[in-house]
Amino acid sequence: MSSVLLRRKRDNDALTENLLITGASQLLTLRGGAPRRGTSLSKLGIVEDGAVLLCRGEIAAVGTRAQVESRKDAKQAEKLDVGGRVVLPGFVDSHTHLIHATSRAEEYELKIQGASYEEIARKGGGILNSVKKLRAASAEALKARARAALEEFASCGTTTVEAKNGYGLNVASELKILCLQRELNNEQPLEIVSTFLGAHVVPAEFRGKPDGAERYIALLLEQMLPEVVNERLAEFCDVFCDRGAFTCAQSRRILSEAQQHGLLPRLHAEQLSRTGATQLAVELGAASCDHLEQVNAADIRALAKSRTVATLLPGCDFHLGWKQYAPARKLIEAGAVVALATDYNPGTSPTVSMPMVLSLACSQLRMTPAEALAAATINAAYALRREKRIGSLEVGKQADLAVFEVEDYREIPYYFGMQRCWMTVKSGEVIYMRD
Ligand SMILES: [Zn+2]
Repeated sequence: MSSVLLRRKRDNDALTENLLITGASQLLTLRGGAPRRGTSLSKLGIVEDGAVLLCRGEIAAVGTRAQVESRKDAKQAEKLDVGGRVVLPGFVDSHTHLIHATSRAEEYELKIQGASYEEIARKGGGILNSVKKLRAASAEALKARARAALEEFASCGTTTVEAKNGYGLNVASELKILCLQRELNNEQPLEIVSTFLGAHVVPAEFRGKPDGAERYIALLLEQMLPEVVNERLAEFCDVFCDRGAFTCAQSRRILSEAQQHGLLPRLHAEQLSRTGATQLAVELGAASCDHLEQVNAADIRALAKSRTVATLLPGCDFHLGWKQYAPARKLIEAGAVVALATDYNPGTSPTVSMPMVLSLACSQLRMTPAEALAAATINAAYALRREKRIGSLEVGKQADLAVFEVEDYREIPYYFGMQRCWMTVKSGEVIYMRD
């Protein structure tokens, strides 16, 4: 049995004053700055018999139980002993398609029977199927589904979620999604970081016509983007740059224009085919380029020299039954900044579980448990350019943490497909706890 205690965000004044958490068999601080490259990715800054003092939504002290308990402000705090469990920073899920209308379970079955992703797309399935359903869905229904998913994110230890629009593909529907993301950010405790992904694919009504893609891009740049900018609906701009979606040249135009309006670029890159999207991401100074199953040696070298985060999404390859995962070891060894995310979406990665993504990162990407944890916390925070505020347990940072029902952090990826998250805290407030 578990209970989800998501409550409305409170005013600062009403935040729990002080909370002292003790009894951590291992407290993973992830202290030491970001981004993490190479061997620094596996440094978790572990404190045994750890304690952390939360004060008005921030971290006031971190250390051993003896160090933290001896503080005057700790003596007056509400106390919680976690009984030898592992405490770590809340997961930062830096790539999701949060708002969509329904699952695509019928396509899942077709894929198992042998239909390719692209065959399904050609038959009106895939992303365009989600677009049809989203356009027909009410804002209330979309919000209810997203809210339920956010409760599940919290129950898996996630405290910050990036979210992209992209299943509307017309002005009204895309703005509807981004407005819902903003409402959800204000109405429930998880932080939602919005990315404008108008360039997901070319919508059906523009396909098969001369210059269809160009006409859609014109709509995106002349009508959607100005609204997104004026209403401050997103911080980042993303493009699905791949076979069957947008070319590098088109991606460059969209992202450059968005950049001029203050949106930081990110890219869906090298998932289905190698297009050169990674080189484009590096050239534009993108915050991240995500997927990377098809990157080559030159792409890896370019990423290693850049601040662009290589965000790997192994849930996608797992769900699609693909054998080719992104070359995580080569990326880490070259010195690229590697992060992990769920890519929560109805077509290729229907999961909100960062612990499951960690299990896949270890078993399929050959990342160590320590590397996977850093990639899902501090480096993921860096991918959202929030590394100074979240992603580690250090004094002055936001009090976002997760407690897992394990004694050793390596058991977090070791158990797969199991619910081991025991408690989640966002800005000092308990938002999830198992009974
Ligand atoms: Zn995606």
